[in-house]
Amino acid sequence: MKIKAIGMISGGLDSTLAAYLLQRLGIDIQGVNFSTGFCLTEHQRIIANYSPIGSKRRDRNLRNEALRAGSDLRFPIEIIDISTDYLPIVTHPKYGYGSAMNPCIDCRIFMLGKAMNYMREVGAQFVFTGEVLGQRPMTQHRRTLDLISKNSGLGDFLLRPLSAKLLPPTLPEKEGWIRRDDLLDIQGRSRKRQMELADEWGVEDYPQPAGGCCFLTDRNYARRVRDLIDHRALSDLRHEDFLILKLGRHMRISPNTKIIIGRDQGENEYIERYLTSYPQMKPMTLPGPTTMILGSPSDDDIAKVTAIAALYTAPQTTIPVEFYLQGLDSGDMKVSAMPADPERIESYRL
Ligand code: SF4
Repeated sequence: MKIKAIGMISGGLDSTLAAYLLQRLGIDIQGVNFSTGFCLTEHQRIIANYSPIGSKRRDRNLRNEALRAGSDLRFPIEIIDISTDYLPIVTHPKYGYGSAMNPCIDCRIFMLGKAMNYMREVGAQFVFTGEVLGQRPMTQHRRTLDLISKNSGLGDFLLRPLSAKLLPPTLPEKEGWIRRDDLLDIQGRSRKRQMELADEWGVEDYPQPAGGCCFLTDRNYARRVRDLIDHRALSDLRHEDFLILKLGRHMRISPNTKIIIGRDQGENEYIERYLTSYPQMKPMTLPGPTTMILGSPSDDDIAKVTAIAALYTAPQTTIPVEFYLQGLDSGDMKVSAMPADPERIESYRL
């Protein structure tokens, strides 16, 4: 019987090398890639689709690295959407956050638990990752690697081929499917050894190791997540609420009201998809951004929003800028204002 393993594949150098190594040892690979909804490239791809043809955003090369790695090494990749179940991990991580709002330990435990279910579903024998001992401060210390193996439920069923010789033997070694001598002993933050192996094995196409794809590690994004959690009941939060934190300029203009202002046509058009969920303001006669209003704005708040929107529409105007405001319970209306003072709105920014 050919031994089959489930690989957690991001498409980065480490997971690609781990897959390649096991392939060389005769293991049949099935890759999985979990979509949390917090992937930067995924978001850029969505906004690119709303951007004008020929624009920089539209023309960026935003390939899915996991699919690319699977295609290069000729093994299948299943992309599994875990975005809905994933939210409690972000709002209530048992092991806390990293430097921003990244609940990395809980996230790894959660994903590996999902990988275990998938392993059982497809009749594979074990799961592997590209994790390297000591490479990442939060999740790849020896004790944390052990904790993640144990709490994901995988335990012995989890192999980390790049550092396996430095870790206790796991099922594939104990069962004799893989010899310990054929595994690696890489550790630490340097990627030198991985790059040498990539050269030696002819693995040429991989993203730069420094480029992370998770919004939750971004401190600006983290501020918006914190603001959202502080101003909304957790039971009311939906994944969509986190999605829209990724686009536009965000300002909290009062405890009850927050606004998002599009920065270009792609973002404006994306914001306009939400018209049935949130009120929006658009300039009536001038080109300018779409502004989404979240919360329960007072009349004062609406006046403030209009002045801010005027600033981003016609900052030098000497006459009030007119807007069409749609989606309020009180009905659609025209509003107008002179531009706000740019210095005064700085404190609203998230
Ligand atoms: S960086 Fe993001 S995707 Fe990666 S482990 Fe941390 S929370 Fe999960």
